[in-house]
Amino acid sequence: MSVKAGLAPEIPLEEIMKQREYIDKIRTILAVKYPVSPPKAYVHTYGCQGNVADSERIKGQLYEMGYVFTENREDADFVLFNTCAVREHAEDRVFGNVGALKPIKNEKKDMIIALCGCMMQQPHVSERIKKSYPYVNLVFGTFAVHRVPELLYKVLRSGKRVFETEEGEPAVAEGLPVYRDRDFKMWLPIMYGCNNFCSYCVVPYVRGRERSRSPEAVIEEAKELISLGAKEITLLGQNVNSYGKNSAYGVNFPRLLRMINDLPGDFKIRFMTSHPKDCTKELLDTMASCEKVARHLHLPFQSGNNRVLKEMNRGYTREDYLGLISYARKVMPDISLTSDIIVGFPGETYEEFLDTLSLIEEVRFTSLFTFIFSPRKGTKAENMEDPVTYKEKSSWFSLLLKKQESIAAKRCQSMLGNTYEVLVEGFTKENDGRLTGRTDGNINIDFEGDASLIGTYRKVKVTNALNWILSGELQ
Ligand code: SAH
Ligand code: SF4
Repeated sequence: MSVKAGLAPEIPLEEIMKQREYIDKIRTILAVKYPVSPPKAYVHTYGCQGNVADSERIKGQLYEMGYVFTENREDADFVLFNTCAVREHAEDRVFGNVGALKPIKNEKKDMIIALCGCMMQQPHVSERIKKSYPYVNLVFGTFAVHRVPELLYKVLRSGKRVFETEEGEPAVAEGLPVYRDRDFKMWLPIMYGCNNFCSYCVVPYVRGRERSRSPEAVIEEAKELISLGAKEITLLGQNVNSYGKNSAYGVNFPRLLRMINDLPGDFKIRFMTSHPKDCTKELLDTMASCEKVARHLHLPFQSGNNRVLKEMNRGYTREDYLGLISYARKVMPDISLTSDIIVGFPGETYEEFLDTLSLIEEVRFTSLFTFIFSPRKGTKAENMEDPVTYKEKSSWFSLLLKKQESIAAKRCQSMLGNTYEVLVEGFTKENDGRLTGRTDGNINIDFEGDASLIGTYRKVKVTNALNWILSGELQ
């Protein structure tokens, strides 16, 4: 590992070059094995954008080996699930989907099945895969994303199962090929890992310690994305706004934002996820003065009650949070706010839950990601006393959703008749031939239009608001 004083270690170039040699070897093996048409890979990503960005790097390496990508797992020669460990539900889905591969593999013995990501970084999960899913060929954790060629080579050569789930050094891999899923909305990871150890959360255990990419590497990739036609660049990190902390780069997150904002080009900048304890006035002022930074802040507060926040180890109070929101609105009156909430943290009472309800009423978020507490192995909260039943927690959860729906419906009504600039993202999921675009505040508006508009900024007037769904007309 090459460690420059005080800087996040970078995976040495020799290691990356060694992986390139494995890529060449695999390309030769695959050319012999699949002489008629290239082998197909199916990659499915669960969880957060951090996983999406990792998958883009894994796909970059697979592509260089000679794989083409398919959306159909039955059709694939290589199947990879990049997994999420944040909640039990996500884990259950992965196990279900791995189980469903068994009959497919029985029909297609040559198929290689691989699992990676946060779940695989947990020893009890990789053990379970080892014992109960013998048809899985390759398992690797979040520290081995840059070593896929070497691991896959071992599988192809030996035909044996390969497990690589050691927690590695908290290092940054530069110079990996990237296969980008989209050509106008692009992800740019700027830091990895988390040092916060919120008492409910598994992320610090499966993603390791916080480390930032160098500002030079970030700016270089940003320039590349712009030259590829990016209309929107989303900076990614588990705690994106603690970028640069614990490093000797001398560039903090606001400064990095400004540097990207100052690059020439017609694009917007988003970032996620920010932590309230690292959300400074400097950051909010920088957002306000950077014309390319979208007027949207995703700032998870988790709970509106101070006792619960303390038990969660979040490092801020309700008052601190509300102070940030009011400052953000002072400097950016039109800012759109979104958040994450956990309902039913161990020991939370109904009265304490009501503080969360009152906070959402006070702030009036654009939208929320809401979760019922899910105990995670190895976290502090796993062993906390949790007397409230799941049924009761679900009823609180419904109250929260109902309140947020009415807030969102009112906000949608207030947008009626206004015209917004949107980035046209594609056709709607409903497949009704309509397009959907996203405002600066990250709000979807559907409208009539043709495929040529996808990937461009357009003005759309909101003409209809059905609850929280907006539709409009191209101007
Ligand atoms: N780093 C980000 C997000 C991490 S995970 C942050 O700190 O905000 C995304 C969201 O999942 C969290 O914000 C939290 O709301 C939720 N989450 C994490 N662990 C959870 C658990 N054990 N049970 C329920 N929700 C959880
Ligand atoms: Fe998990 Fe907290 Fe780190 Fe977010 S800040 S990833 S919730 S430990």
